[in-house]
Amino acid sequence: MGQTIVLTGIVLSAIPVGEYDRRITLLTKERGKVAAFARGARRPGSQLMAAGSPFSFGQFEAYEGRSSYTVVKADISHYFQKLAADLDRAYFGFYFLEMADYYARENADEIHMLKLLYRSLQALESQKFDCRLVRRVFELKAMAINGEGPNVFSCLECGSEQGLQWFRVESGGTLCASCGGRAGGAPGKTNGRGTFELGESVLYAMQFILSARIEKLYSFALTEPVLESLGQILDVYMGHYLDRKFHALEVLKENEGFAASVINYPRKSNQQLQSKPGKGIISKVL
Ligand SMILES: [Zn+2]
Repeated sequence: MGQTIVLTGIVLSAIPVGEYDRRITLLTKERGKVAAFARGARRPGSQLMAAGSPFSFGQFEAYEGRSSYTVVKADISHYFQKLAADLDRAYFGFYFLEMADYYARENADEIHMLKLLYRSLQALESQKFDCRLVRRVFELKAMAINGEGPNVFSCLECGSEQGLQWFRVESGGTLCASCGGRAGGAPGKTNGRGTFELGESVLYAMQFILSARIEKLYSFALTEPVLESLGQILDVYMGHYLDRKFHALEVLKENEGFAASVINYPRKSNQQLQSKPGKGIISKVL
């Protein structure tokens, strides 16, 4: 065994191995996604117990082996305990972990993905945000970080930045009113071929999410119709560009009714809502 290195990151997944051990996947600042072995992590009282739990964030001291690391010490600074205690929020969290796992690569620079994941889990845990909003922000930003985000700042055909009225999934972005019309777009939600009519608020929300720094991402809320319409677009977009079904998302879908009722979304009274550029964007909810 050589020298140990210290990795800063979060446990994405953990599976039991043997009688007392766990094999874990970490998303780290230093080495991207790494597979690691936590010997004795399931032994009661083990120092590595927390290292064997998804959502554990901190510093992991490890030996580098041929195909995997062996964690010898874990200094966990955040467990996201409140998240783990709330099943519905936890599943949104598991979904984020799965998506981070899907995108992250070994020895790649995953610092933005790690930051996005951490901030998004914090937002979920804080209970200040609708889980569905946190989900959409995470999805769109994660795709953008990994080079699969849409272009929503100009028309894909003529380059105009004005009158962006359509979103065409297979082209990966927005079209202006005239180009979208020519492309067969029809008024209404969709023309049935992956072209959506974009409301001003949905466009603004997407532009904000794609351009905002990760630290500033969770600073707004959306009205129900805007959130729904953003969700519809992202569902089709992700279906088109991602080749993975996420287990946690399947569980969330099975728990029908999670969409509105289960979520403890703090409803604000009208005077607390301040309409900003798009009518459906509510700024300063916090
Ligand atoms: Zn155009």
